[in-house]
Amino acid sequence: MKLILLGPPGAGKGTQAKRLEDKYGFVQLSTGDMLRAAVAAGTETGKKAEAIMARGELVPNEVVVGIIAERIEQPDVAKGYILDGFPRNVAQAEALDEMLKGKGTALDAVVELVVDDGILLKRIETRAAETVGGARADDNAEALKKRLAVYHEQTAPLSAYYKGKGRLKAVDGMKEMDEVTRQIEAALGL
Ligand code: ADP
Repeated sequence: MKLILLGPPGAGKGTQAKRLEDKYGFVQLSTGDMLRAAVAAGTETGKKAEAIMARGELVPNEVVVGIIAERIEQPDVAKGYILDGFPRNVAQAEALDEMLKGKGTALDAVVELVVDDGILLKRIETRAAETVGGARADDNAEALKKRLAVYHEQTAPLSAYYKGKGRLKAVDGMKEMDEVTRQIEAALGL
């Protein structure tokens, strides 16, 4: 199963991806996690990405497209994978389609976790308060709001993009976590 989990920051993509990984063995591929690992390791990619990420902006497309292209070649994704945080704009989505086509394969589904902005802003404030001086440089209220704005501007159009291709499945991300998991499983026929 090759899947995209789409949704704004704070929608619960990471939590749901982890559950699907544990239960079905699909590997969660989070570009955010991969970029943070590159920053921590001080690689060339990490050096390029660090300041951009701290501001809540998007790192250049070729950087993330390259990371994903390499990662999905690894043997551990044989049962499938869940893309979390990628693609984040239409150019990345087109690059992904091309990349998969070149490998003779395609996505099975795109699941969108739908959450209202009001709820997100509350979650964002809680997350910022919990992580003061914590692990993520971009978990302060300002960068989080920027990430939400970038989401609306660049990532939300992906919902129409995939709907047009008949691959979008929308799930109510405002229900409690177990219910969201059930809805995702139902949408995917798992
Ligand atoms: P969120 O918690 O907002 O979903 P992530 O952990 O997925 O955030 O990503 C954190 C940051 O990493 C983003 O704000 C962005 O700077 C960078 N990033 C992650 N994925 C991508 C991508 N596909 N394209 C560009 N930048 C990305």
